[in-house]
Amino acid sequence: MLSRVFLPIVIFWFSISTFSLAQNSSPYDTLARKIVTTGLQSGKAYTMLTELCTTIGHRLSGSPQAAQAVAWGKNKMNEMGLENVRLESLMVPHWVRGEVEEAFVIHPVTKEKISLSICALGGSIRTPAEGITAEIIEVHTFEELQSLGEKAKGKIIFFNRPMERSKIMTFEAYGGAVNQRGSGAIEAAKAGGVAALVRSMTTAVDDFPHTGSMGYVDTVKKVPSAAISTLDANFLSELLSKEKNVKLHLQLSCETLPEVPSANVIGEILGSEKPNEIVLIGGHLDSWDKGQGAHDDGAGISHTLEAMRLLKELGLRPKRTIRAILFMNEENGLRGGKNYAEKHKNETHVAAIETDAGGASPRGFGVSTDSIRFEKIKRWESLFEIIDADRIKKGGGGADISELGRQGIPTIGLRVDPQRYFDYHHSDNDTIDKVNERELELGATALAILVYLLAEEGL
Ligand SMILES: [Zn+2]
Repeated sequence: MLSRVFLPIVIFWFSISTFSLAQNSSPYDTLARKIVTTGLQSGKAYTMLTELCTTIGHRLSGSPQAAQAVAWGKNKMNEMGLENVRLESLMVPHWVRGEVEEAFVIHPVTKEKISLSICALGGSIRTPAEGITAEIIEVHTFEELQSLGEKAKGKIIFFNRPMERSKIMTFEAYGGAVNQRGSGAIEAAKAGGVAALVRSMTTAVDDFPHTGSMGYVDTVKKVPSAAISTLDANFLSELLSKEKNVKLHLQLSCETLPEVPSANVIGEILGSEKPNEIVLIGGHLDSWDKGQGAHDDGAGISHTLEAMRLLKELGLRPKRTIRAILFMNEENGLRGGKNYAEKHKNETHVAAIETDAGGASPRGFGVSTDSIRFEKIKRWESLFEIIDADRIKKGGGGADISELGRQGIPTIGLRVDPQRYFDYHHSDNDTIDKVNERELELGATALAILVYLLAEEGL
């Protein structure tokens, strides 16, 4: 029997759960199910991604393929009947890999030349035509490099700190290692080194070198910088532990050419009641010049286009405008994101969503905003249960929308299963066969549901 004290609590609890039941059986439940069913039965994300990967392939900013991708994206938006389809032009950096890219170690005892699997890091200067031959020295941190003092002078600095394998969220492991790639050349030069060789940013142990952006500063001498495959990094480390005076030969012919005009691609579903309030959704159209840029970020491009196509196919026009954007130059300059944020700073953005974590199974969303808006989005979690993507967590966005975040606009990133992403990321391994059709389509349905809710309900 219930005591008099507990009875009101029970009644209160009952009314709360009745209320949440009523919430759960909202009209959005039917809508979410419809979007998912349509996406799985007749989704086009995988077809679009296959087309982008196989007819255009990788598309680094400034390349002819990047220009083709811009035209392709605009065409797709027109085909699906988006409104206000347009290009917003901007200038992009133009770095090219060049023909020559090789490295070998010279065994100190046998004098044998052992070739290594390497590639230039994006933005690196070239070596002299004859290459650089110098003794190699291994470090794991910038502090360790600084503590070497004179010993680092004239050497090729080998940064060999792996991504932490025990981290479940591989993006965290990436974050813990990627400063070697970004600033390795600067730190190497500061220590008197003549080049930087960086362990590839992946937890996979294989023979694929992974490129990615690296930087220089005006106050420090520029030295060339390359990535080495994890398999060869392990080999080199073992050799260095056994032998003294191991020399490495490095030859790169990459260079930076004058900037090239390019564009962000934009298309909309105009809002029925508040067309001036915008929910932004996008990914980046450029990729590194390796593989086909399938997961990074062809997946995000096909997610974005398919989310829009699904809403069009189902005849859904929410109150606010949904604006899809295919950003240009995320990988080596972020010009697209910066250009958009500047050009549209006087418009009202409800939220900005980016999908740039690959095409694996969706898990949910990361949201960066105040607690009131966060809780509002969090209340939609149950609508994503049907696709097992109902984890709404704090903290999220994407590089292209980071500037919008700084302007105070809520930013949201699609979260997907992150275990395999870095096996492919920025390497020849990032090809269409690594993307699962159903996983990709599910990601697009998750985005279609969220973008619709935001545009219909506001924040
Ligand atoms: Zn990316």
